[in-house]
Amino acid sequence: MRQYIISILFASICLGNRLDYFQQHVAYDIEVTLDDSAHTLDAYEKIIYTNNSPDSLDFIWFHIWPNAYKNTETAFAKQRERFLNTSFIFSEEKKRGYIDSLNFTIDGIKADWDYHPDWIDVAKVQLPKSLPPGDVITIETPFFVKLPKVFSRLGHTGKHYEITQWYPKPAVYDHLGWHPMPYLDMGEFYSEFGSFDVRITLPEEYRIMATGDLVNGEAEYAWLDSLAQEGDSLHALDKKAFKKAIKKLKKSGKKKGEKKNFLQKLKAKFKKEKKERETPILKTLHFHQDNVHDFAWFADPKWIVRKGILYLADSTRQVTLWSMYHPKNAELWENSIEYLHDSGYWYSVFNGDYPYNHITAVDGDMSAGGGMEYPNITVISKMDSKHLLEMVIMHEVGHNWFYGILGSNERDHTWMDEGLNEFNNIRYWEAKYGDENRKWIVNEFTQEKLGPFSVGKNLQFGFFEYAGYSSWVKKGDEEPMETSANAFKQRTNYWLSYSKPLLYTWHLLDYLGEEVIDTIMHSYYRDWEFKHPYPEDYFAYFKKFSNKDLAWYTHDVFYETGRVDYSVKIEDNEAVFKNLGDLTLPFEAAFYNKKKNEISRHWYENVKKIQRVSLPEGTKSVIIDPDQTLPDGNRPNNATSKPLAFTWVFDQPQYYKREIFWMPWLFSGNHYNGWTPGLNFYNGFVPGYDYGIGFRPMWDFLNEQLVGSFSASKTVYGLGSFYSSNFSFDAARNSGRTGAHFEFKGKRKKHLERFPVWKTIFNIDYHNILENAVDSEYYDSGESATGYAEMELYNRPNPFLTYYFRTAVKTGIVNSQFLRFNLQTNIYYKFTKKLKAKLRIWVGGFLDAIDLPRQYRTYLSGNIDPDFRNNYLFNRTADVNDASIGTHQYDIGGPSLHGLILDDIDKMLGVDS
Ligand SMILES: [Zn+2]
Repeated sequence: MRQYIISILFASICLGNRLDYFQQHVAYDIEVTLDDSAHTLDAYEKIIYTNNSPDSLDFIWFHIWPNAYKNTETAFAKQRERFLNTSFIFSEEKKRGYIDSLNFTIDGIKADWDYHPDWIDVAKVQLPKSLPPGDVITIETPFFVKLPKVFSRLGHTGKHYEITQWYPKPAVYDHLGWHPMPYLDMGEFYSEFGSFDVRITLPEEYRIMATGDLVNGEAEYAWLDSLAQEGDSLHALDKKAFKKAIKKLKKSGKKKGEKKNFLQKLKAKFKKEKKERETPILKTLHFHQDNVHDFAWFADPKWIVRKGILYLADSTRQVTLWSMYHPKNAELWENSIEYLHDSGYWYSVFNGDYPYNHITAVDGDMSAGGGMEYPNITVISKMDSKHLLEMVIMHEVGHNWFYGILGSNERDHTWMDEGLNEFNNIRYWEAKYGDENRKWIVNEFTQEKLGPFSVGKNLQFGFFEYAGYSSWVKKGDEEPMETSANAFKQRTNYWLSYSKPLLYTWHLLDYLGEEVIDTIMHSYYRDWEFKHPYPEDYFAYFKKFSNKDLAWYTHDVFYETGRVDYSVKIEDNEAVFKNLGDLTLPFEAAFYNKKKNEISRHWYENVKKIQRVSLPEGTKSVIIDPDQTLPDGNRPNNATSKPLAFTWVFDQPQYYKREIFWMPWLFSGNHYNGWTPGLNFYNGFVPGYDYGIGFRPMWDFLNEQLVGSFSASKTVYGLGSFYSSNFSFDAARNSGRTGAHFEFKGKRKKHLERFPVWKTIFNIDYHNILENAVDSEYYDSGESATGYAEMELYNRPNPFLTYYFRTAVKTGIVNSQFLRFNLQTNIYYKFTKKLKAKLRIWVGGFLDAIDLPRQYRTYLSGNIDPDFRNNYLFNRTADVNDASIGTHQYDIGGPSLHGLILDDIDKMLGVDS
């Protein structure tokens, strides 16, 4: 109740504020010159800043983000360190970057400025006199940027340039005050809307595209048009000619690879110096754009250029589409204009018309992977399939709406741009590939090119989002969506800002219907276009356009954590719906007759614990969530009857069937059994199931008998003091051994922390080993049973240090009497990128060895796989000269010295002998 009152209070305060909505205005004028041999930018910036706030301002926070790459103390470097990434920390000084030469004046008067106390990529510029509400000032400064290699978003790779987050930029001042923020990898931005006039000077051979339209750019556009014609004719070539042409284009970009002798090198150097002294022919291009909050540009002298046109559905305005890509990716990018077109088209349909004149995607080198959005223009990294490229282009183009036009604070409310954008991604996929079952090709070879043996033919867009989300949240380390990006303790929770809103908003669409969602999205877009919406502004439309209780969405999804798990059973002619999860969501249930034909379907709301409903006449089975839009982490209990289904290797799981995946098992065998072909069957082991069962019958051609194995595994989270508890059992007959193995693996760690991890392992083994299957020097045949217990501490306190301590005991239970122990520690330390040290200490021995089966001796070197865990031991018999069975095996539990240490009769030397 108290919470309720507070939230009403909060809502009314916010609403009050929003009625007095204001936003600052910034008009940029930047002149910049690229030096493509020093990889630097020399620039001058002029900003006309309008204070539309009700407050007088005495200073302005400026973002000078190129300084993020200056040293290893920046917020960017520290965040990388926190996530154990050393690529920037160990980078050479010369590959880093910075911004300097700043000299701020306000209306011509020199202004004092200083760095933020914590961040050298944020500066506080003091205004010589207070700026009252409604007043305008002109801020000017020169600046110089040394471009880093592409570590994150800004930088260059040779003569390929990605010029982003590159100029001094005022932080947002809104109803909550100032929003200064350091540059981060994980965590995006928040900027003031305004206009940009940017004059870029660079060598004339560069293909360049940027936010905005060219002013007096006829000549440049004509050149780009001619390049686009070249691009089109390249793709019109037949396969062979196309490959040849690409090879030639790739070659023209490479000169370094050629081998030269000393004299040639000297000559080349002399020539190069001479060449560099010749001033390159430069061009200056003027880009202009209104109603954007950022400006980025990308340049490359070798890109292939393509051009297209998008006619928006309900307007006559046309949008120009550009795609520019490296020759090496030409085949993949063949249809990139189509992806740009469809993205611009569908986002306009779902939300509102694209308001700018071009949409561009360029092929980049962002090491972070994926892509990055800027107004009008997006940069995409290397992708593995056409669908993945289409997905990333669609996603980044989509950010024109969710980030660009709807300029939310991405740093503090990541889901508002990423999550709502992802929701539009699945709508796009449904609109475009709905007839093809939303197919999702991540690997063209395995999914399409293997004919009847193709694996994963029916994988759907959205499955990976569901799989990632549902397998993560059940672990209990989820953090609320409403967490500022850098405050997420676990990186996965940041990534949940993408998948979680997608899944729940998709379910909401299923619940409310397309018409209501369209009304909400269009109204949100219309009211907040070129503004800064906050979460409550978005949520307000759900109250406005729906009379349903949607607190599960507008509150729980974004402010709470937890799992969804509904189940259904039929009891006494009633369907019994149970809520086994933490969240309460509306869900749909469908009722089927004997012939599996649907009788009817209904939505059920607010089922917090249990609800019984009488079955419609003739009902034989019930399925919760027939369309699979509910982010239910345990789907198999959503159906009362599950027909058997066999699926080849792996595919989109059919949760409402008793689905058995199968594959032939052809390449197995060993000395004792000979070739043992068979079949492998499994059920579960995929997200949406919390168990896995496998069965592998095989035929032993040598002894003419059935061999094989059965295994089962279940992982439970939050059992007792364990973070995860895995129970597994397997029984097998193979390699002349019949046996069984039970294991418990428990992991303990602090909530939301990754390290340190305490592992506890218990296992029991039973073996019955045939005499003629093994070398009697190393194995005792017959029956035996043993027990094993292990404790381990594993830690990675920083990116440089990794260590573990482990203590273990193994003891005989049946037909054996011994007690073996060992203690060991492994320490790894990274001093620099190339200098690493490794230390391993092992102490072990026997406290009791009255009846020690030979396989449990501890050898100074080598290993014989005593418990038949691995199939790599092809031959365990004495046929293979003595100690050779252990020669190349490495036993992590033993001393594991390199090289084989033998005793005086050439047997492996045990610590007990
Ligand atoms: Zn994104």
